[in-house]
Amino acid sequence: MEILKIKDWSLNLPTEGPIIIAGPCSVETETQTLASCHGAARAGAHLLRGGIWKPRTNPGSFEGLGEQGLKWLQKAKAETGLPITCEVANADHVRIALAHGVDVLWIGARTTVNPFAVQAIADALRWHDVPIMVKNPVNPDVKLWIGAVKRLQNVGLSKIAAIHRGFDTLAQKNLYRNPPNWNLVQQFREALPEISIINDPSHIAGRRDLLRSISQKAIDLGLDGLMIETHIDPDNAWSDAKQQVTPDSLQELLSGLQQQVQAESSTTSALESWRSEIDILDKSLMELLALRKDLVKEIAKCKQDHNIAIVQLERWRAMVRKRLEDSKQLGLNQQLVTGIFDAIHADSVQVQQSVSR
Ligand code: PEP
Ligand code: MN
Repeated sequence: MEILKIKDWSLNLPTEGPIIIAGPCSVETETQTLASCHGAARAGAHLLRGGIWKPRTNPGSFEGLGEQGLKWLQKAKAETGLPITCEVANADHVRIALAHGVDVLWIGARTTVNPFAVQAIADALRWHDVPIMVKNPVNPDVKLWIGAVKRLQNVGLSKIAAIHRGFDTLAQKNLYRNPPNWNLVQQFREALPEISIINDPSHIAGRRDLLRSISQKAIDLGLDGLMIETHIDPDNAWSDAKQQVTPDSLQELLSGLQQQVQAESSTTSALESWRSEIDILDKSLMELLALRKDLVKEIAKCKQDHNIAIVQLERWRAMVRKRLEDSKQLGLNQQLVTGIFDAIHADSVQVQQSVSR
């Protein structure tokens, strides 16, 4: 089944320029929903979002209002004349959302990782002509993302778009909540050139001040739209407070975006994209070194308490042997790896000496 571009979904979406999806992370109260959605509409949104079932890390966090919230989202649709979208994670959600006039569904990042869950949603949509967006899985696996789209195509859906919301990372203190991976987006685009891709700077950034630069980057790369969490009172939001913006800030952000299609060649843009990933990797390397240093300090305290010498030659030799074996398997230059670990070891001896002084 052929995939239709988002502007051809018969939802009165603009045929030029980025499609703007905005609205609160979560539907919380009637007043909050209506004020946030009216504000988003005035700021230039074409499609209103509102989280109804929220996948939260900790049980006991606010997990969404379910059906009650849908009634308020439906009211926002009636009052603004704009179509609405919400996340669905199972067949029940699909049934309830469609019964409440939800125009576009989306599959969240925590659901895309699970082929059983995606298939169950696909099965619930067989014979429906419902538009659906698929967020990338939390882990950077382009095949899993493509697979999810194919499951939806296989049940006859044609109005399918993708959302890039960044990826989980090993590093604990990254600048971004979920760092973007523009190369992976490019791979996705090459595999499914007909699909529209929306960027979700809110979940990539995790903080308001980075939204503008990520949004501009997405536009420069020719992505088809932006999904930006917009709340009438972001600081007091029940979920994702740090990354939501007011309708006024949304308007300001949108009016500041440069719309010119990138003049640069695809080589320049690929180079820039690889470089920004190298920046993220280098930052991750340093964050790992900082985590390693914390452990070294713990070891130093333990050695001091038990009167153990700081340098243990046998342990050091065994460690270097193991690192060299690992580096061979990874195809790394042995001299480079030896040099790096000599420097790390020298530093950790110094750290241990300063702890035990
Ligand atoms: C959301 O859009 O509110 C959400 C839960 O996003 P994600 O699936 O990207 O984490
Ligand atoms: Mn959110």
